[in-house]
Parts: sequence; structure tokens; C-alpha cells
Amino acid sequence: MRVEVDPNICEGHGQCNAVAPEVYDLDDGGYCLIRHPEVPPDLESQAEAGALACPVQAITVTR
Ligand code: SF4
Repeated sequence: MRVEVDPNICEGHGQCNAVAPEVYDLDDGGYCLIRHPEVPPDLESQAEAGALACPVQAITVTR
């Protein structure tokens, strides 16, 4: 699984990090920084939950 964030869409709500801190970090402005673009199997469910939590659908999950 891969996750990507579109920086043009991300509005810095921080929900991804609140739900899945091991996958999504935040920069100094509160915008999403992805820790693991290639998601390890044990973090896949977290990665999906974080993507679903984003209120502006800035995160794309691909398998
Ligand atoms: S939840 Fe969405 S808008 Fe908020 S920081 Fe994460 S990717 Fe950006």
C-alpha cells in the first residue's frame, strides 16, 4: 500500500495525524507530512483510517 498527500488540497486540519500518528506527521504549519509513503503491513489499517479522517480528502491510498 502507498499513501500520498496532495499539498494543494491539504488544509492542515491534522485529523490524519490525530488518527494515525505513526503514518502521518505534521509540519510546523500543521500540514500533513507522510512518514511512510510505502506503508508497512502493520500500519495499513491506520493509514486507511487516517485517510478517511481527512475532511478534504487530501490523502490518496493506492494498493
Ligand atoms: S487531515 Fe487532511 S487536511 Fe488535515 S493535515 Fe491531514 S491531509 Fe491535511
